[in-house]
Order: sequence, then C-alpha cells, then structure tokens
Amino acid sequence: MDRCNLCGGTDFTVLEDHGTVQVVRCACQLVFVTPVPSRGEIEKTYQDDYYEPWKEQEAARRHIWTRRLRGLQQLDRRRGRLLDVGCGEATFLRLAQQEGWQVSGTELSIAAAAQAADLDVHRGEVWEVGLSGDTFDVVTSWHVIEHASDPKRMVAELFRLLRPGGWMVLATPNVHDYIFRLGYLAGRGQWPTLYEADERELHLFHFSAETLSRLVQAVGFTDVQIRFDRGAAAVSTKRLVNQVAYGWYRLTGLNWGIGLELVARKPAFAAAERLCA
Ligand SMILES: [Zn+2]
Repeated sequence: MDRCNLCGGTDFTVLEDHGTVQVVRCACQLVFVTPVPSRGEIEKTYQDDYYEPWKEQEAARRHIWTRRLRGLQQLDRRRGRLLDVGCGEATFLRLAQQEGWQVSGTELSIAAAAQAADLDVHRGEVWEVGLSGDTFDVVTSWHVIEHASDPKRMVAELFRLLRPGGWMVLATPNVHDYIFRLGYLAGRGQWPTLYEADERELHLFHFSAETLSRLVQAVGFTDVQIRFDRGAAAVSTKRLVNQVAYGWYRLTGLNWGIGLELVARKPAFAAAERLCA
C-alpha cells in the first residue's frame, strides 16, 4: 500500500472504489488515488493527442496565461529567472520571455517538450533533470502537481531551486469545488467522481487549501497565501461555473472555486543574517 504523501500515514477512508484503483482520504485529509501508477504509465498519458483539445481553446488559454503572468509580476517587479515546471508546449514561457524574463522549463511529455526545443526546456520530472540550486527568482507550476507521482518531492525540489527570498506560485484543482459539484449534479443527475479509468486528465492528488498549504510548509516554504484561481477553466461551461464561484468567494470569502492558487516564499536566510551581523 502507498503511504500518504503528506503525513506518511496509512489511516485511510475509501471514498471511491474502482476495483484495482481506489480514491482515499487520509486521516490528515489528503485525498489521493492509490496505487500511484508507474512512471511509464503516467508518461504514456501525455502524448500528442493529450494536447489536441487545447488548440480549440487557444484564445481562452492565452487570456489565462496573460492573467497569470500579470499576477506574478505583482509579486516581484524585477524580471529575473523563471522556471515553469510541467511547461507543456511552453505558451506561458514564451509570453514570459517576451516580457523580459529569462525562462527555463521542465516537461515530462516527449510530444510537448519537442514543441519547445528552441527554449531551455528539460525533459523529465523536475527532480531528474539536474538543475542547480538557489538559481531561480520565481518558480511556477500550473495545474501539474495533481498529476505528479510524488508532490512532496516536487515541492522540495522547487524549494531547493529557488534563490533565498524567491517565490513559488502553484495552481491545482480544489477538492472543495462545491459549486462545480452542484452544477454537475444539476446537469447530469449524479455527483462527479474523482477518478475515471479512461479519463484524459489523470489526477492522482486532490488538494484543499489546507492540505496544499501544509505540504509546502513541510518542505520549508513560508508566507503561504491561498488565492482563488481564476484561470482554472478554459471550457466555457466550466468557466461560467468558476465565475459563479468567484462571486461567492468575493461575497463570503469561501473558496469553492474549481482551482486554488498558492503563493509561497523561500525564506531569505542570507538577508536575515546580514541584518543580525
Ligand atoms: Zn496523510
């Protein structure tokens, strides 16, 4: 049996039983698929046809990337070194490059990485590609961590790669997406499931604001903020649902949107030492 990626425990409640695969909630509240598929199985999911539907959503996606970049530039006005983990076909990296960032990326998919061969894009998991520590001013990862086989290892590696004082921005689906769930129930007469065997999107981990915050704090990140991810939906019906959820969030402060956006910082040890000296 897999151990919980967040707490290391094995005290699970089964939420969905799909025969060989189960979706469980650990006593620490992390929700995940077990057993985790092999590296080869995960990689196989992201071939050419995975990216096909994105081409039809190009305008909506460009709008999302522009908004994400604007948000990031509010954190740090300097244009430094940016790493995007799971950069796909690198649309976001190209946009950032045009804005003056020095960009790098990592990507597991052979098909997607081939589309970004002219950029500094490394193929593989971020912990496999041998990047130097204390290098990047900002690391981003947009709706990738839920697909990763080992989220804790991923955020630990992002912590190592950031320079002290650098920022991480992570977006991922929100397991507390109640507005979407209600909309789905109303439209289809049943609750959505967290796992489907033939699903295009293989989500292995389902985070809440709370479990995601605890995961990044466990590897050393501080100044953790959770925001509403307005870029979580590119398809029009989901976008509409997310608009309703955003209205609800503005009204009540309850983040029931489709996605979460986490911003956190690697502590600036060096700066603190200088102040003490
Ligand atoms: Zn746990």
